Parts: sequence; C-alpha cells; structure tokens
Amino acid sequence: MDKLKVLKDVFGYSSFRDGQEEIIDSILEGRDVFGIMPTGGGKSICFQVPALMLEGITLVVSPLISLMKDQVATLVQSGVRAAYLNSSLTFRQYNKALENAYNGVYKIIYVAPERLCTPEFLKFANTVNISMVTVDEAHCVSQWGQDFRPGYLKISQFLNSLDRRPRVNAFTATATDRVKKDIIKLLELNKPYMVKTDFDRPNLYFAVETPKSRKKAVLDFVAEHEDSCGVIYCLSRKNVEEICELLCVNGFNATRYHAGLEPEERKQNQEDFIYDRKNIIVATNAFGMGIDKGDVRYVLHYNMPASMEAYYQEAGRAGRDGDKSECVLFYSPQDVRVQQFLIDQDSENEELTEEEQKIVKERQREKLKEMTFYATTDDCLRAYMLRYFGEKAKGKCDNCSNCKGEYDTYDVTRIARSVIRCIDDLDERYGTTAICEVLTGLETDRVIRNGLDDEISFGLLYDVEISEIRNVINYLVREEYITQTDGKYPILTLNHKAREFMKKDVKVNVKVRKKNTVKPKFVREKTADSNLFELLRQCRMKIAQQKRVPAFMIFTDASLRDMTVKQPTTEKEFLTVSGVGSAKMKAYGKEFMNVIKQYKNRCIIIAICQWLIIINSLNDLHDLFCRNVKAPQYLSSHAFSFTQ
Ligand code: ADP
Repeated sequence: MDKLKVLKDVFGYSSFRDGQEEIIDSILEGRDVFGIMPTGGGKSICFQVPALMLEGITLVVSPLISLMKDQVATLVQSGVRAAYLNSSLTFRQYNKALENAYNGVYKIIYVAPERLCTPEFLKFANTVNISMVTVDEAHCVSQWGQDFRPGYLKISQFLNSLDRRPRVNAFTATATDRVKKDIIKLLELNKPYMVKTDFDRPNLYFAVETPKSRKKAVLDFVAEHEDSCGVIYCLSRKNVEEICELLCVNGFNATRYHAGLEPEERKQNQEDFIYDRKNIIVATNAFGMGIDKGDVRYVLHYNMPASMEAYYQEAGRAGRDGDKSECVLFYSPQDVRVQQFLIDQDSENEELTEEEQKIVKERQREKLKEMTFYATTDDCLRAYMLRYFGEKAKGKCDNCSNCKGEYDTYDVTRIARSVIRCIDDLDERYGTTAICEVLTGLETDRVIRNGLDDEISFGLLYDVEISEIRNVINYLVREEYITQTDGKYPILTLNHKAREFMKKDVKVNVKVRKKNTVKPKFVREKTADSNLFELLRQCRMKIAQQKRVPAFMIFTDASLRDMTVKQPTTEKEFLTVSGVGSAKMKAYGKEFMNVIKQYKNRCIIIAICQWLIIINSLNDLHDLFCRNVKAPQYLSSHAFSFTQ
C-alpha cells in the first residue's frame, strides 16, 4: 500500500508534516532512523504508517503505561490492530494478549522495556516476524536526560538476542548533544538516518506577565478561557491547594494534582481532566509526563519554574493537536528567591560525591539565571527560547507578549550609575540583595554588621523601589555591564563595559511593557460556525462518554472545525475532513453527519422564518400606508422635508 493512502485511509490526513515523509521513506528502505521532533510534531505517524505497510509486527518500546494506553486506544479508534504488554495487565490478560500476538492479531505492540528480555517475550519475538522496533521517548536511555529509565538499557540486549535484527528507530523531543550520542551508542543504532525538525511551535503563543495580584489574574485568565482545557502549574503543593480551591469557589471546574495526594485520588483527578469531566487541572511539576491530551489550550505557570528545560517541557503540553494555544508565565522576583532557596536546600543526592553535588548545584543556579532572563527579557520570547536550545531564530515572531506588546522607554541612567558605583564601593564583594539594601538605605543586620551604612552610596536611591533596582540589575547583567557569579552566594562584579560607561556621558534606557497592552486573548482557532462547532462538541462528548474514551480520541478539535467549514452530509464529503479515516467514518460518520444535517435544516427553517418576518413586516408597512396614512400626503410631506 502507498504511504499517502495509509495516511489518508487510516489517519485521515492528506499530507505529511515536516520530516515525516523522509523518516517513513528511510524506514521503508530498511534503515535505522533517529528522529528528533518537538512535542506535537507528529512522531507517532512516522513509525505507525510504515508499521502498517511492512510485513510482520512492529514493537514500540514506551516508558509509561499511560502513554501506551493512550496510543493504543487512539490507534484502535482509527481501526488499527494494536495492543500493549505491560504490568497493568493481569496474568490472564497478558497471556491472552500474547496468544493473540502469536496468532498475528496485532500489527503494532507497545511494550515496556523491562518486558523485553523476559524468557517468554524473547521466545515470542524469535518466533514471529518482528519487522521493526521503535523506541519512543528515546532520551530515557541516557543518564544525562531528564527521565533516565534503567530498563531502556535492556533494549540493545534484546535486539542482540534476536535471530534477525529488525530495523530500529528512535524518537525523542529533547536531545542535547550528550543525550543524542548516548541514544545512538546505547541503542546501538546502525548509521541511523537523522532527522531534526524545527523546534519552533508556531501554534503556541508565549507570554510573560507580572500581575500585581496573581490570584486575581488567574481568575481573570480562566474566565476568559472558560470552555477550554488548561493546566495551571504551581511551585508548591500548598499553592496547588490554594489555587484549586480559589477556582472551585469561584465556580470553575478545576481539579488538583500533586505528589502529596493519595495515588487513587491522583489517578482519579488526572482521568477527570483527560476525560473532560474537569477542564482545569492545577498541579505541581509531578503532573504531565505521559499525558497525551492533545486539546490543552493553555498552560499557565503561576510560578516560574527552575529552568528553561522544565518550562519548555511543561509549556509544550499545550496545543499538541496543532491548534492555537497559550503558554503564559506569571513572573515575580519572589519566585527567583524561592527557587534559589530550593536549590540550596535540595536534599543531597547520596550517590554523588561532594564535588559532583557542588557541580550539580552550580548548574542548577546557572539554569535558574537563564530562566530569569527569559522572564525579564524584552526581546522576542520565542527567539530567546529557540536560541537557548541551540536553534536558529528570527529576531521577532509576532506571536509572543514581547513582540505584540507596546512599550514605554524609561531612562534608568541614574539607577544604573548608582548600582555600578555601589558595586565598586563595596569592592565587588556583595550580591543583589545587599546592593539593593545599601542603595535604598535600609539598615538591615547585614548592613550594620558590615558597616555598609558608612559607604558613600548608602541611601543613594532612597526614593526608588527595590523591585525597580532589581530590574535594572537584571538588565545590566543581561547586557553584560556586570556579571553575577555562580555559587551559593552569587556576587555582582563589574565588567569592562560598566567601567567604560561610567567614564562617558551616555544614557541607559530600558523598555517596559505598558500594563495591560497584551491581554491574554481567547485564542481558540476560528471556526466557520461556532454554533455548529458547539453541537459537534456535544456529540463528541456523548460518544466519548458512551465509549469511555477521551473526547480527543474520537475527533480532535481541528477535525470538528474542519467539519464546520465543509459541513459534509455524504460519506464521500465526510472523508475529506482532516483526521477522518475509513474506520472513524464507519464508526462515527453517521452521528456527526446527522448533527450537521439537522443543523443545516434548522438554518434553512430559520432563514425561511426570517424571510417570512420580513415579508410580514413589509405587509404591515403596506397596511400602515393603506389604512392609516394617506400615502400621497406622507410622501409629499417627506419630499417637502427632503427638498428643504
Ligand atoms: P508527538 O508524539 O510528536 O508529540 P503526535 O504524534 O502525538 O506528536 O502528533 C500530534 C498531533 O498531530 C496529533 O493530533 C496527530 O494526529 C497530528 N498529526 C500528526 N501528523 C499529522 C499530519 N501529517 N497532518 C495532520 N495532523 C497530524
């Protein structure tokens, strides 16, 4: 079968996305492949399409039970014979699934890495025809990645135990050079065809906000996104409890997730969110890995995370289905201090030596600094992020709060000069907090103890708010006037640029975004007809509840939107909708087309009624003329007034 035909017939898409076709071609040629694509980039299609075209079975190694379940359920919805083998199955279920697999019932089998080298699985794999092994979330093989999973180290052992080595491919969304090398080496990929697609996620709108009251801002935000699914990340369990409570009290349909909850409740709350019984989940970073929900329309960070890696991963859970979505970060300097505190307090990892622990903490501090720069930069947020991950980026994206915002420019020359002078006065021995205390003339313990109140710069900026001084310090660090050293107690030191600046009569201006110029706007993609969209959504919800599957597995929002545009009423027309393959057509086509037909009929009736009303009112007007007003008089009096 032709790859495009499989794409259309099974998955309902008419063209490949960036990278997909070349990966599929290489797999079909028999090569090993290594694909690095961002979340939502469409990795699954890359191995699922060839899996259906090749003779034999494809094994997909996946790290999480929830991921496997979701992927298999989605495939089954599309009419693909797929199953998973993992510890969630009972002994009987497992044996039954294996028996089916022996009998060739499945084309794609998801398997946990720990299963691979068990004697019964090895026997199975050497009996049937395994045409391909796919390693999903391949970064789990590397100890340098965020989610190291020792079971992944068994994969190469498994491959070497097979009588015939199948083609192997590996996919991941995050790969630094170190992790990339580990993946190739530890999975023993054979001269893999490498594809790395653009990491930009154009459907995501990035924003940083610094609201005076975060609680009010969060309420306003969810109110503007009332019908949408969203994740709100908080730093602590306490924050999660508070914000979830706040939302519930205000009538929003929210649930919570953090490691302090009983496993039963965590599971229940997660399912409530995935199955659309709750549309907001307030969570710590414990939530997310293995969540495959495509229609998350926003990820709001109530607190700033500790690194760009964490932020990109968490924010990236928005808009996996490709629809427009928002990633909003609430920033407060307080968050930086809390994160610094957490790094310092972090319980020591016993497996590391003292020296290694020091290095780890230093790296964490460095990452926090980069994250703070993201939160405070006035350049394009997307460009900052892409460059951070080593990608090329245009200067302006026009789809982030910095590109879209309006700015006021402030002359901060006096503050900048005072900061530099103070650092110099204090012999470059103190950090941001001490510098701010001295400049504003605060007689804190530290200031008194060290006699800093005798310095010339003491109280130099008594009239300026500390937060403003901090912002200018951030700016001076970013622009490399000064350096903030690493370590537990970072200190500020002066660079050549600062000394030059003090000698010249030049100004320093910072751009500050005008308050409320970038309101988080409602970003659901435009539908041709929002009433019809709503009816289709209700239809989808009803079917999802009957079938006990998440709504997005029936059809994505993008498919429903396409239905509102095409308004199909025949099978042929319905098959042209994006995301509709033949299995979904058979399973759901009738019900959705009925909704569309009824809607169209109603529209016709409404149109006729409107015409009748118009005709009626014309008749009334006519009556008015004939019975009450002497038409010639009426006309002539008006004609008179017109001519005047
Ligand atoms: P990833 O695993 O890379 O995060 P997925 O494989 O889950 O991404 O794909 C994300 C979304 O994009 C899914 O809803 C999927 O159906 C859709 N998708 C994938 N390929 C295409 C395509 N060629 N055309 C349209 N939609 C696609």
